[in-house]
Amino acid sequence: MHHDIVIIGGGAGGLELAAHLGRHLGRTQGPQKVLLVDRSVFHIWKPTLHEVAAGTLDAHQEGLSYTILARRNHFSFALGDLQGLDLAARCLTLGEIRDEDGQQMVPARTLSFRWLVLALGSGSNFFGTPGAAEHAFVLEQASDAERFRRHLLAAFTRAAFSSQKTLGVAIVGGGATGVELSAELLEAHQEVQEGFGAEQRFRLDISIVEAAPRILGGLPERISTQATTALARKQVRVMTNTKVLEVRADRLITSAGELPAELIVWAAGIQAAEANTRLGLQTNRAHQFVVGPRLETAVPGIFAMGDCAACVWHGERQVPARAQAAHQQAHYLYRCLKAALQERRHEPPFVYQDFGSLVSLGENKGVGNLMGGLTGRNFFVEGLIAKWMYMSLHLMHHRAILGLGGTAVLAMARLLQRRVSGRLKLH
Ligand SMILES: Cc1cc2nc3c(=O)[nH]c(=O)nc-3n(C[C@H](O)[C@H](O)[C@H](O)COP(=O)(O)OP(=O)(O)OC[C@H]3O[C@@H](n4cnc5c(N)ncnc54)[C@H](O)[C@@H]3O)c2cc1C
Repeated sequence: MHHDIVIIGGGAGGLELAAHLGRHLGRTQGPQKVLLVDRSVFHIWKPTLHEVAAGTLDAHQEGLSYTILARRNHFSFALGDLQGLDLAARCLTLGEIRDEDGQQMVPARTLSFRWLVLALGSGSNFFGTPGAAEHAFVLEQASDAERFRRHLLAAFTRAAFSSQKTLGVAIVGGGATGVELSAELLEAHQEVQEGFGAEQRFRLDISIVEAAPRILGGLPERISTQATTALARKQVRVMTNTKVLEVRADRLITSAGELPAELIVWAAGIQAAEANTRLGLQTNRAHQFVVGPRLETAVPGIFAMGDCAACVWHGERQVPARAQAAHQQAHYLYRCLKAALQERRHEPPFVYQDFGSLVSLGENKGVGNLMGGLTGRNFFVEGLIAKWMYMSLHLMHHRAILGLGGTAVLAMARLLQRRVSGRLKLH
């Protein structure tokens, strides 16, 4: 089977690219022109995984089927797992996909392409910490978040009926994911408490363990201070300058001593899949594909974008692994591939524009900074305004794949659903 453009990975970046290309090319030239491949049948915007994990967002309502998105946006979709690449023959191999019972759903197959975009995202980096992979939960994909949610609900119930009336949760990593997860867990706990009788109320004891001197280390200090204060007010313990030396089933062994916890989440760092290093393309230490200024690898016509790409920014730094970057790269590659198809000149190199960062601190609260485009000044935002801006990023993603009307209908439907069945998914 041959397709002009094959995109592997339908995440924050790859799906937006497929939707733009499909709407531009597929409508006139047929959906076979652009093929999106993903190893999952449905898409969830990764920055919402901490909400899915806490149960404050329902993965089954939030998930969008690739097949339906493909039909609406005029591209093709194939379920498959990228296994190999034949650079000379411009072919790739997709491994088989099996269901939960081990039955084969789709067989292994080979596809040929003219242009290939790798948008494979990233996973967790355990930095070689003993026990981390075995005992800690991660938030890499929807199934991880769902698994955590199920354990959390069971742990909530256990704590409510225990004699200690306390549930300990340890989050390793004080980046945006760790901070946002702790805020979301507090909201989930509050909702659960409201449903319990007085004798079943229990304390949620959350600790964030961070090796660096402050949380949200990549963001301006003011944001970090604000978030630390907000978390302290909610009685989240923030342990900075503390290294996790080992993860055990029921505790962390840290440089500051032992920290018992029933649930442990690893949110301390990311790296791309090790399998990337076996595709014959140049990769860096974090297994990301090394790309040039046009997001192209050393092999002409093979591009990489988003978390799996190492793209230089401002000389020595790298474009950060963020949804914001994947979104901009999707727009950029759309223009590049459109130009290539029309045999027009190259687009100028990709320039990443940092519009700032926003961190959610619960349903009605956020904190962040916005970069003033022309003045270059940094604006600090907080409270409800910051939270609304944070939510607008999610809406922008939906708009790119569903259009304005579809996004408005979906947002309204979800709002109404929450009104009726509550914010927390308890089943
Ligand atoms: C909890 C959490 C909160 C976050 N919050 C923010 C935020 O507030 N703001 C922000 O900018 N960023 C945030 N991020 C980071 C952001 O989610 C990522 O930077 C972004 O999703 C990267 O997009 P991507 O397209 O590169 O990869 P992804 O969105 O991860 O998509 C990768 C896709 O590739 C597929 N795939 C992987 N391997 C294969 C394979 N071998 N074969 C086929 N398919 C494959 C996966 O199924 C997935 O659909 C957050 C991340 C997490 C985990």
